[in-house]
Amino acid sequence: MKLTVNAERADEQPSEDAVRFACPECGAVVAVTQVQGDRCPGCNFEFNWFGPGEERTARDYFAVLTRRKHHVSLASGLGYIVAHE
Ligand SMILES: [Zn+2]
Repeated sequence: MKLTVNAERADEQPSEDAVRFACPECGAVVAVTQVQGDRCPGCNFEFNWFGPGEERTARDYFAVLTRRKHHVSLASGLGYIVAHE
């Protein structure tokens, strides 16, 4: 019996490591999987994901942004999202 290697596997993994929430700018449901670099499909805001122990870091980061921005507190244990242009 041969095993078939699925080259697409990386794209089909369940998104257990993703956090989903409504974009604070446009309301689209977004899934963030990376610490940085994910963007909203609706408004193209970029998200930075901070862990639950990084509230201070998230607030410091938020404070230095000069364009449109949002600070989101995720459900318990999931941390914080800073969304920005
Ligand atoms: Zn958006």
